[in-house]
Amino acid sequence: MTLDRDAFYIDGQWAAPATAATLQVVSPHSEQVVATVPEGSAADVDAAVAAARRAFDEGPWPRMSPEERIEVVQAFSGLYAGKLAEMADLITTEMGAPTSFSNLAQSPAPWMQIEAFLGIARAFPWEDTRPGVLGPEVIVRREPVGVVAAIPPWNVPQFTTISKVVPALLAGNTVVVKPAPETPLDTYLMAELLEEAGVPAGVVNIVAAGREVGEHLVAHPGIDKVAFTGSTAAGRKIAAVCGEQLKRVSLELGGKSAAIVLDDADLAATMEGLKFVALMNSGQACVAQTRILASRANYDAVVEALAETVSGMVVGDPADPATEIGPMVAQRQQERVEKYIALGQEEGARVVVGGNGMPDGLDRGWYVRPTVFADVDNRMRIAQEEIFGPVLSVIAYDDVDDAVRIANDSDYGLAGTVWTGDPDAGLDVARRVRAGTYGVNTYTMDFAAPFGGFKASGIGREFGPEGLAQYTELKAIYPTAPAM
Ligand code: NAD
Repeated sequence: MTLDRDAFYIDGQWAAPATAATLQVVSPHSEQVVATVPEGSAADVDAAVAAARRAFDEGPWPRMSPEERIEVVQAFSGLYAGKLAEMADLITTEMGAPTSFSNLAQSPAPWMQIEAFLGIARAFPWEDTRPGVLGPEVIVRREPVGVVAAIPPWNVPQFTTISKVVPALLAGNTVVVKPAPETPLDTYLMAELLEEAGVPAGVVNIVAAGREVGEHLVAHPGIDKVAFTGSTAAGRKIAAVCGEQLKRVSLELGGKSAAIVLDDADLAATMEGLKFVALMNSGQACVAQTRILASRANYDAVVEALAETVSGMVVGDPADPATEIGPMVAQRQQERVEKYIALGQEEGARVVVGGNGMPDGLDRGWYVRPTVFADVDNRMRIAQEEIFGPVLSVIAYDDVDDAVRIANDSDYGLAGTVWTGDPDAGLDVARRVRAGTYGVNTYTMDFAAPFGGFKASGIGREFGPEGLAQYTELKAIYPTAPAM
């Protein structure tokens, strides 16, 4: 079966592209082209925004009741549930996530998001009344923002698309999605399911394209809100444009999170946990906790346990269910990770596992060797900059206060964990680290709760009622004249 596509999804139609330009989707494992899809141009984006604008200004969607929209999204959820394995496979094919990770986070987790948002929308105060100060009461309404530009990255493409499209739809907005050029295929499947669920024409439009066309979409006068997940560098540019134009904007950006290992932690259980929190998606995760903080007293034991754990991880074909670390998404990403591995050595850190070169038994594909650095100072660039690959730095701390200080000594503030035998001590650390999500002996994203970043990790939150509220404007209506 071919995965090729020759159209965009615009105004409820499979629309011919404005130009002949194409994007090639290349397997990071085989380096072979697996699909060719049209590459969007500014003209395609203009058509998509015009369709979304019409659907918002004149179409039924924003005028339907929340209950009617919930019904359509519920139908979408049912169809999505039937495609979880296909969606996971597609994402493993296009960006190389190990299938074990894809079948957990690349499609089941987005589906759980849809279900969580449905529950949140049912309980959401779309319109409520509160006692007034001047008059007897004030009506407070949550109305849609308008036309939303949703711009996801390639690393968790459905996870970051559903987190925008579904709350936007439930609140009555219309959407233009611009998938990353590496991962257009999953969005096509999503479009088919939205169409089948009965989402009206123009309510969701999809044009895959690169950065420049993304910039055109962000600056487009027909867009009311930009919802972006990606690098902090791109987020700053987008925020500047939205600031100038006074567009609503939410930004989910990079991270350099810390896992603090306290001396009373169960080391074996901690290592099992770190395999996931530090190395999920082959290290290509914004929440990856790549700074491992160990006390000076416990330092050698943590380094040794981590070295043993990481050297035992299975690296290889992402389609193999046994694989724990797959390839990097692209050759440029492989080169970027290798540059950081070389930089760490130049900075004086000690490689205890890994280093540059292909992993054993592999002679093609954009693989890197999972690498653990010891003797890392938190001021080194490998401890401050997001590498986005399977490269961990073990940093020594003096006491718990020093561990919290080091965790917070970062431009970012996205996530973190503490590993300890004392849950109260863990909660105390959790309250002191400046990050948007934090786990004690675990890390998860619960879709009932807000997710997002402090500091350079972003602005705004996704998930929970807070994530739905980001797609609404507040309106106060005074239904009666105050008694004078
Ligand atoms: P990226 O910033 O290069 O690109 C992300 C998306 O934005 C792509 O679709 C790209 O085409 C588009 N884009 C890039 N520059 C743009 C611009 N100026 N205007 C409009 N669109 C633009 O990021 P990436 O390499 O695809 O993804 C990796 C980054 O994403 C990492 O920094 C990671 O931490 C971050 N990320 C964050 C979260 C989160 O929730 N905080 C989740 C996943 C990934």
